[in-house]
Amino acid sequence: MTRSPYPKAFHVMAKPAGSACNLRCEYCFFFNKKSLYPGSRLRMGDDVHKEYIRQLLDAHRTTWVTVAWQGGEPTLMGLDFYRRSLELQDRYRKPSTVIENTFQTNGILLTDEWCRFFRENNFLVGLSMDGPQELHDRYRRDPRGHGSFDSVLKAARLLQEHGVEFNILSTVNRKNAGRPLEVYRFFRDVIKARYIQFIPIVEKEDAAVLRAGKAPTGRSVSPARWGSFLKGIFDEWVRRDVGETFVLNFDAVLAGWLGHAGTVCILGPSCGLGLALEHNGDLYSCDHFVDPGHLLGNILTTPMIELVSSEKQRRFGRDKRDTLPRQCRQCRYLFLCNGECPKNRLIETAEGEPGLNYLCEGYRTFFSHTEKSMQDMAGLMRLGRPASDVMRLSTGKVPPAHTGFAGVGRNDPCPCGARDAEGKRLKYKKCHGGQI
Ligand code: SF4
Ligand code: SF4
Repeated sequence: MTRSPYPKAFHVMAKPAGSACNLRCEYCFFFNKKSLYPGSRLRMGDDVHKEYIRQLLDAHRTTWVTVAWQGGEPTLMGLDFYRRSLELQDRYRKPSTVIENTFQTNGILLTDEWCRFFRENNFLVGLSMDGPQELHDRYRRDPRGHGSFDSVLKAARLLQEHGVEFNILSTVNRKNAGRPLEVYRFFRDVIKARYIQFIPIVEKEDAAVLRAGKAPTGRSVSPARWGSFLKGIFDEWVRRDVGETFVLNFDAVLAGWLGHAGTVCILGPSCGLGLALEHNGDLYSCDHFVDPGHLLGNILTTPMIELVSSEKQRRFGRDKRDTLPRQCRQCRYLFLCNGECPKNRLIETAEGEPGLNYLCEGYRTFFSHTEKSMQDMAGLMRLGRPASDVMRLSTGKVPPAHTGFAGVGRNDPCPCGARDAEGKRLKYKKCHGGQI
């Protein structure tokens, strides 16, 4: 049987309003993409919209298909655009296809009507917020320079009132990076978010300063702070919130320990299956590489699936692995990290090799700090137990017979699957048998 040259599934972030936005967040890398389309209204027309939905649904050979809306700010298109999208999705879906719409917004324009629409049509909404007011308003401002916190808080409340499933997308920047627990507790206790994702802000200028041996001074989170931010939250989460509050950054690393690295693309071994679609049908290699060098073509003239599987895009995907510096190739945590996102590979290794991730130091600290707990959770899950049992393990409140490790001999391989630095399975007595 010949293998299909086309991927079964891929992910496209559609930017129906291009980079247009009603905020002027200082660190936003989308806003200056306007210059790629001078004079454009930055609105997706019906021809592109129709082709996008038709081709996306036609190309997928999976039951689930995600239609992802992103910006800029996608609410600027108005609700009728998305009502039309549902019509198109209905028209072009295969009978067995299940469609999920995701929608990343700053929340400013959300109303009851928007929330009713999201709820009725099962949209999964991502709300951008950087923490309590003082931290959020530092960078997330409107065109007049006013903070956007009050509007975003109102949006979160509206989403809750209408029962819309939403997650919080928070950047980690110079301002909030030193206050991990304040940020996390605010999302957990005030916003009552169950799903949270943290995105580090990395600006090239800061990496250049770091390369010159100085501390970054701009908006970027420093590598050390990125590590301590994640660690600070993890330590609280692993003691009381596992199974209740989901932090995507932690889930992705846990998946790596379970042998499923790459549940988020930044930690995966290759790129290439997460593309970005501009308002006019231009398809780019990735949302972080919307630039002329990464333009694959336009879906009005070349089928999307041909662009996704083009040699140019395959090379982009392979480059993530092929350009890893030796430090990464020899790293104990390569299987979890894979050198992280190429957009952040801005510094040199100690040997002067380029291509090391700016955040490397922070990641290494985080992986090492959480290794034991991650292995515990992975072990519990392999035994068919919930990862949340780790909370009882760490407090010592569970007698051995209740941990799922009962009956394992001291010299048996530990059921958690942990391996030593050379990749050999650890004996039970050297792993969980030594602590329970
Ligand atoms: S470049 Fe970064 S964001 Fe884009 S697909 Fe690769 S890892 Fe993901
Ligand atoms: S932790 Fe650092 S050295 Fe290890 S794979 Fe990640 S970026 Fe490379």
